[in-house]
Amino acid sequence: MTTFAQNLISYLHLFKMAERKVRVRFAPSPTGALHIGGVRTALYNYLFARQHGGDLVFRIEDTDSHRFVPGAEEYILESFKWLGIQFDEGVSFGGEHGPYRQSERRVLYKTYVQQLLDAGKAYYAFDTPEELEAKRNELKNFQYDAHTRMQMRNSLTMTPEECQQRIADGEQYVVRFLVEPGREIHVQDLIRGEVIVKSDILDDKVLYKSADELPTYHLANIVDDHLMEITHVIRGEEWLPSAPLHVLLYEAFGWTDTMPSFAHLPLLLKPEGKGKLSKRDGDRLGFPVFPLEWHDPKTGEVSSGFRESGYFPEAVVNFLALLGWNPGTDQEIFSLNELVDAFDITRCSKAGAKYDYQKGIWFNHEYMLQKSDDEIADLFAPIVANNGVDESMDRIRQVVHMMKDRVDFVKELWPLCSFFFVAPLEYDMKTVRKRWKPYSAEQMTELADLLEGLDDFSIENQEQHVMNWVKEKDYKLGDVMNAFRLTLVGIGKGPGMFDISAFLGKNETLRRLRKAIEEIPTVASHLA
Ligand code: GLU
Repeated sequence: MTTFAQNLISYLHLFKMAERKVRVRFAPSPTGALHIGGVRTALYNYLFARQHGGDLVFRIEDTDSHRFVPGAEEYILESFKWLGIQFDEGVSFGGEHGPYRQSERRVLYKTYVQQLLDAGKAYYAFDTPEELEAKRNELKNFQYDAHTRMQMRNSLTMTPEECQQRIADGEQYVVRFLVEPGREIHVQDLIRGEVIVKSDILDDKVLYKSADELPTYHLANIVDDHLMEITHVIRGEEWLPSAPLHVLLYEAFGWTDTMPSFAHLPLLLKPEGKGKLSKRDGDRLGFPVFPLEWHDPKTGEVSSGFRESGYFPEAVVNFLALLGWNPGTDQEIFSLNELVDAFDITRCSKAGAKYDYQKGIWFNHEYMLQKSDDEIADLFAPIVANNGVDESMDRIRQVVHMMKDRVDFVKELWPLCSFFFVAPLEYDMKTVRKRWKPYSAEQMTELADLLEGLDDFSIENQEQHVMNWVKEKDYKLGDVMNAFRLTLVGIGKGPGMFDISAFLGKNETLRRLRKAIEEIPTVASHLA
């Protein structure tokens, strides 16, 4: 897009905003678990609303009763609660534009359908599914439009009396939108610029079905956006093909002046970067694509969620915010409030955004570091207790302080830190083979005697005495420290040795040392 056109669109957009309070909506269909792309859409709507002092509306688009899944609405609400994304109005939040569930707005939609019928902008169609199928077989690329509608059974090809008679007889019908050919439709998109589409390629979309007395997505969506005074429609790229029809509908109703600005967000792509991200990619590569774990009520299938996988909600929000938008700087860590300030819808990319789940893990690690030891300790404490260990909060916090920079998730702490709380039950064979020398038992006995003589068991004091002894005896420091580690930890890993011994305290350190001096030689002799 040219800079001029871009400026013009931004200008118009600002001008519109000056007049009307910004109102955006997130309008999911309750057809199952909310995909992570939907979460990002809601997040961008939230950021946009907050930064413009506007409102975010939560609307449920449930006009397709066949696709309704029980529990989906609750799931969506719980997801946003967990993520800290708050709505101002809508299902479960109340507000002056309700009801916010489309299935509760049937009567209202009927009057709008009638309005289009009366104005000749829509018409009744009685074609049965079989007739439509026959036509599809007869005409290659059949589309219900200006070229074909006069060959079909509808109110344009029959007398008003016949049409009314059929309706009175209870014959099922749909109402179709009459798309005039030869028009150029201009969609102003804050991300994509001006998108121009020829009306000839559009078909006469069904707006209403008598069978279930419900409007289709297109009609309900436009009527609600209008009545709910929505100023900006921010949604996934998959809805871009519907936008020209939506523009025409606004026009047909005479609402062009208050037509919202559109912003169609880029697709989320597979981690490999090709094709749309799917649930199967998550299963294949082992990462969640849903905010919360989801139990499909029909199939019983369970899909993993970010929450249950141990992600921090802040990390998920931060990760998603940068999938398809960037601040134009190197900054990567943003709190929700910082995002509100930095977010700029016009800086969203048009091209799809690769779902780099490794980056999601990286974000979780960063938030682990950012959070206080107390916060992490609160999350870690139940895990410690579940492993049958009764420890004070203070000691759990000390362990967290030593170890949190080594993990990405709280759940990874226990396997790494259990030795702080329980003595090793066995010694890692590989480490024994590598680190336990023929003279280690003797050195460790000397070390135990030395430590036993210390009154001050602080890190510094232990270190000073041990270093002097090693120097005096001309031992290799590596030999001593590696064997010492093996006795306390059972394996060749962990933080600084004196951090460990100081934490364990004198009694426990000596107990582990003496036990290891007895047991490891037996283990080692088996290996020999
Ligand atoms: N009900 C649609 C969905 O499930 C809403 C699309 C829109 O935002 O217009 O995403």
